[in-house]
Amino acid sequence: MLNIVLFGPPGAGKGTQSQKLIAQYNLVHLSTGDLLRAQIAQGTELGLTAKKLMDEGLLVPDEVVIGMIDNALQANKETAGGFIFDGFPRTVPQAERLDQLLAQHDSGINCMIALEVGEEELVTRLLERGKTSGRPDDQDVSKIRRRVTVYNTETAQVAGYYAAQNKFHALNGIGPIDTIFGQICALIDQHKPATTDNPAEATREVKA
Ligand code: ADP
Repeated sequence: MLNIVLFGPPGAGKGTQSQKLIAQYNLVHLSTGDLLRAQIAQGTELGLTAKKLMDEGLLVPDEVVIGMIDNALQANKETAGGFIFDGFPRTVPQAERLDQLLAQHDSGINCMIALEVGEEELVTRLLERGKTSGRPDDQDVSKIRRRVTVYNTETAQVAGYYAAQNKFHALNGIGPIDTIFGQICALIDQHKPATTDNPAEATREVKA
């Protein structure tokens, strides 16, 4: 299995690059933001609780997102060539649990790739996305800045967790999408396990 953590602040381009990577490497895309928004759309109790926090730009409790990731790993383990984790782990306890969950599948994280983008560019991008995304957290500058602050204070230290395992790699997230994609692929190709196939075959949808 090839397991990648795509890291970076909100608006760094993780979702865009994930869509290209799942096709290139036959991976399943696991975005905790998408999984949470699916819960909201279904009107579940979990979704209702999460929505209040998400709309304010705050993190959802660790046990909630870890539970969703555990379920998604179980549901996709037979078919996935590996996983791309987007928006997860966002805290060190989430990173520790992810290592434990992957170990149960005799697997682990191959590398973390961080997309670096400055705050003013992030604000510009997210406000632009907010015009069409319908996401309340993309439409208010103070909420956007709170998400960036939460990233800097709570999430950025996850990079240190992977750096300590020699798995951390940073890229400039400003530039043409295809150029950045090429740089990500070059890093993955250096770190993928020797046994991993690399068929550019059909994309698999994540099973909830
Ligand atoms: P972005 O990275 O653009 O902020 P996401 O879609 O990844 O957007 O996440 C949206 C919101 O969902 C976050 O602001 C947070 O409230 C919640 N969320 C997503 N992933 C996690 C996580 N791993 N831990 C805690 N909260 C999360």
